[in-house]
Amino acid sequence: MRSAAADHEAFHAARREGPVELLGLDRPRMAAFFESLGEKRFRARQMMQWLHQRHVYDFTEMTDLSKALRQRLQERARATLPEVAADQQASDGTRKWVIRLADGNCVETVYIPEPKRGTLCVSSQVGCPMGCTFCATGDAGFARNLSAAEIVAQVHIARRHLAEGAITNVVFMGMGEPLLNFDPVISTARVLTDDYGFVLSKRRVTISTSGIVRAVERLRGLTDVSLAVSLHAPNNELRNQLVPLNRKHPLERLIPACHAYIEGKPHRRITWEYTMLDGVNDQDQHARELAQLLRGIPSKVNLIPFNPYPGARYGRSPDQRVRRFADLLLEKGLTATIRETRGDDIDGACGQLVGEIQDPRGSRVAASA
Ligand code: SAH
Ligand code: SF4
Repeated sequence: MRSAAADHEAFHAARREGPVELLGLDRPRMAAFFESLGEKRFRARQMMQWLHQRHVYDFTEMTDLSKALRQRLQERARATLPEVAADQQASDGTRKWVIRLADGNCVETVYIPEPKRGTLCVSSQVGCPMGCTFCATGDAGFARNLSAAEIVAQVHIARRHLAEGAITNVVFMGMGEPLLNFDPVISTARVLTDDYGFVLSKRRVTISTSGIVRAVERLRGLTDVSLAVSLHAPNNELRNQLVPLNRKHPLERLIPACHAYIEGKPHRRITWEYTMLDGVNDQDQHARELAQLLRGIPSKVNLIPFNPYPGARYGRSPDQRVRRFADLLLEKGLTATIRETRGDDIDGACGQLVGEIQDPRGSRVAASA
């Protein structure tokens, strides 16, 4: 947990650089900001309600704050939403916004309506440095991390375009590896679950990671949101080919770290994402090996039929194969679901998001991350 002193330090540093962006501040950071203005910490709750519950971004309209404070906020702070560069709707109702950030980079946010819930899929980085070999985001390169404000703003933008209550779940499954952008992602998760923020239950916010072991270990104690782990293979040899990170973060370290995140928490389980690649990881023997690997861990396996994109090196497993794989897992006592493909006519399906990357470094993550 960060100390109040660290929060203060961050604020003083930020103030030297100009106005503080309030949209991404979790409650402790917002309280530290008000303290730095000589105000009481409870102002954080008022500000968060104005921003996240009443959608008021103009400080002059915040009538329960004194005139003097409103004036000071105008000098010292801001709450701004980036521009929407495109708003597309797929034939199945999936919606995608291309969001242009202040520096010209674009990220994508996708809304997936279902009969009983509405899931918003947010991006955490411009591009992604992980280089998974089946992912368009990974192919497109990496520019930078998003700030917490830029992640929270995606939820604000989507909400402004949708009916009240349409967003019931938020998943960090857009562009980027969330755990490489640790603090802003944790801040965002806290804003999403805060009673004065978006008031989502911790089960309805999911961080999805390609498996950065030390970051998974750090999560416990900092947040209680759901964890999804992109597994895609039941052994190191195959996973090394699909998720290059695995060479330094192998399964024998990753699996126990994930298990530890939910250990001692009743009714919680890990979601394992498994993209089905034709003839690569979709055979009966892989299903058996997977069941063995996950034995004893409260789990749900989410099978994702591969979504193609230009230049992809893999094909999608036939539906029959995906169903057979799911049946084998079920036989072994695992919960398995098949993710329906949504929004692929607007390139909004898993792994198809590329945004628009200014000056990509084209770098791949140092595998020791
Ligand atoms: N970077 C995070 C979030 C990614 S998106 C992560 O890797 O976990 C959510 C899921 O889509 C991940 O499991 C990812 O591996 C998967 N995915 C990526 N490209 C895909 C593709 N082309 N088809 C299907 N699933 C894909
Ligand atoms: Fe990055 Fe996730 Fe794509 Fe891998 S699957 S390249 S971690 S976005």
